[in-house]
Amino acid sequence: MSNQPVEKRVVLVLFHNDLRVHDNATLTMATQLASESSDARLLLVYAAFLADTLNQKNWGQSYHFEEMGQARTRFLEESLSDLDESLQSLGNKLLYLKGTDSTDTLSSAVQLCQLIDEQGVTDICVSQTADYAQNLAYETLQNKYPQISWHSQSTATLFATMPTKELPNSFTQFRKKVEYSHNLLNAQKGVDISPMPKRLPPIPESLAQNPECFFAAQASDERAQLEPRFKGGETQALAHLERYFDSRAPSIYKSTRNALDTWSHTTKFSPWLANGSLSVQTLLNRLRCYERQVIANDSTYWIWFELLWREYFYWYAMTHQKDLFLFKGISTQPPSTGYDKQRLEQWQNGATPYPIVNACMCQLNNTGYMSNRGRQLVASAFIHELELDWRYGATYFEQQLIDYDVASNWGNWQYLAGVGADPRGCRQFNLKKQTQQHDPNGDFRDKWLV
Ligand SMILES: Cc1cc2nc3c(=O)[nH]c(=O)nc-3n(C[C@H](O)[C@H](O)[C@H](O)COP(=O)(O)OP(=O)(O)OC[C@H]3O[C@@H](n4cnc5c(N)ncnc54)[C@H](O)[C@@H]3O)c2cc1C
Repeated sequence: MSNQPVEKRVVLVLFHNDLRVHDNATLTMATQLASESSDARLLLVYAAFLADTLNQKNWGQSYHFEEMGQARTRFLEESLSDLDESLQSLGNKLLYLKGTDSTDTLSSAVQLCQLIDEQGVTDICVSQTADYAQNLAYETLQNKYPQISWHSQSTATLFATMPTKELPNSFTQFRKKVEYSHNLLNAQKGVDISPMPKRLPPIPESLAQNPECFFAAQASDERAQLEPRFKGGETQALAHLERYFDSRAPSIYKSTRNALDTWSHTTKFSPWLANGSLSVQTLLNRLRCYERQVIANDSTYWIWFELLWREYFYWYAMTHQKDLFLFKGISTQPPSTGYDKQRLEQWQNGATPYPIVNACMCQLNNTGYMSNRGRQLVASAFIHELELDWRYGATYFEQQLIDYDVASNWGNWQYLAGVGADPRGCRQFNLKKQTQQHDPNGDFRDKWLV
């Protein structure tokens, strides 16, 4: 066999929900591919709204907001800015293809195709995703460029492939099977993580010299009344990971996790997990380390339990594809709810007849975050009290949540609407009882209903 290096490789990494350099198998793969060629170049790209601008097919998402909410946009831009810094310290940089708007001739999809053509890209590396629209965009690119080799890595989940032969109908069955047949419950051993590249191959010279072709990622500073602790980026994610596990919070998580507001009462990892600034494997290793060194109890088990919910919805989205967005979900009957502009706007603006719902919606509109209990209450009110089509609620969450994740969001909404993975049918929360239980003194309502 000849040891001749392969022809010049131009490798392009298309970042999506993997905005980190630690434990990033996609980046590791791209570096390996480049190392097989003597004069390789590496393009590290984030193309905003790629799916919106590239997908021609209407695949059934009925209601769509044109723009991301302010908090979500800020969190994303901070994440990209931090990623760019890390990539620069490794000898490359992020090309942020921002486009202008989806109908513009200079959309991110157009910018990306220009880049691929001009640079003669030979390989594209992506992370696996349960995002149906993003996968359609990848398919379109693969069809347009059959000569380019595609490489897809698992970076978002604990398991590289579905951990059960078929997806069980309920989370409980899934959890039992996974816990029985996989050894991730074992606190003695960490899961393997991808090594971080020491140095990245360079960007093509023409791009290194003309950075103005692309938009520089810049963090906005419009955060006056926003939650100060949620700052986007891998650096913040890893700092939060250390802070959280240096505290007592993990050892009492099970008794505090239903709180509506207090920062330390839940882990707050979701925004960083959702855009991949934090690797869930790294998080699991840290949790197991806490269990070995501090305490392993019901609360630390419950953090794992919640991470398994995330995992379940990922494989649920992979299994059901575009049925995730259907009104009837995976059931046979659509619900009897519908669209009503006025009630929808009341809900979005926190102006329903239900103060607890309004307070949660104000929290979401101001911070981009809402607790799990809050999400359950506002979704239940949306479906049962306001009798609205659940997809409009899911789409509003998509616009606003800084931790928006296709699988977790749409999977949870389907679950609550009774058209998803819930053998017990739809769930209605008693708002009066829930208010007494979770906001007995009205502190939460006082804080947000101003
Ligand atoms: C209607 C609705 C919509 C939702 N949309 C999203 C979404 O877009 N993105 C998102 O990450 N989560 C979503 N969730 C799940 C959950 O509300 C958030 O993950 C959680 O509130 C985030 O806060 P935390 O990190 O402090 O969670 P913790 O309580 O500390 O949980 C630890 C981690 O477990 C995972 N997790 C916990 N609960 C769930 C759950 N029910 N489903 C899936 N994963 C879970 C998250 O990754 C979370 O970070 C939704 C829940 C509901 C009811």
